[in-house]
Amino acid sequence: MSAPGPIELAGDAAQLAISPVGLPALSRDACHRGQSERWAVAGYSGIEGVMAEMAGSGAAQRVVIVAPRSGQAVSVGRGEQVRVLDADGHQVGDMWAIDAADPGRWLSASHTRDRCERLFPAVGEQFRDQHGVPILQLAADTSPGLHDMLFPPCDRWLYESRRLPGHANCRDNFLAAVASAGISLPIVPDPVNLFQNSGPQPDGRLRIGVAASRPGDAISFLAQRDLVFVLTACSVDYPPLSNGRCGPLRIEVTPATAA
Ligand SMILES: [Zn+2]
Repeated sequence: MSAPGPIELAGDAAQLAISPVGLPALSRDACHRGQSERWAVAGYSGIEGVMAEMAGSGAAQRVVIVAPRSGQAVSVGRGEQVRVLDADGHQVGDMWAIDAADPGRWLSASHTRDRCERLFPAVGEQFRDQHGVPILQLAADTSPGLHDMLFPPCDRWLYESRRLPGHANCRDNFLAAVASAGISLPIVPDPVNLFQNSGPQPDGRLRIGVAASRPGDAISFLAQRDLVFVLTACSVDYPPLSNGRCGPLRIEVTPATAA
């Protein structure tokens, strides 16, 4: 795949106040309006992401832009670093990792919680597959560190329940992305919801706030084996999840020799 050089992401100048977990008690659902106009203004109309190779010091870094309300699958080799950048801030990204050699094994949210004995791994800890074997290491995180590993991807039925038929959704975007990589799975695994601010409250409730990531925040992973890495820029376009708007995300894959 060839493409023009890296895209300059248009950011919202206004930096929005970050709501800590548990303030707006709204459910996780919706995305629309405004985004297409904003991207048109930015000169970016593509639904599909763009892959570019950037000259680095030594090996090339691969960059994939995940456009708003879309998904991308990227091949990542063992030892490579994957960095997910939220350029505009407050954008949730649903992430999956599938074993490239054995697509029947993938990042399992429940096995990761089990082995870490945490709701989300700490930096330096591992995400696991269904056999409890490390598949991805959480290497670094410049965001406030609020992520989710309890929610499924948004799907068509969620939007239909809100009278939004035909709405873009992470489940369908995931299926399209893995299909583009030639993979068919028997189920849609639960994702890792990057930057999603939905931690449990003392009373047991799961209350969703605005994604805590600030413009330019990023989270980085180290591939523990050859992977198909999938990321969707969540399609929920009603508050609070991604602050009532849908933005892009950027994937940067750095070869082991340059990481
Ligand atoms: Zn979503």
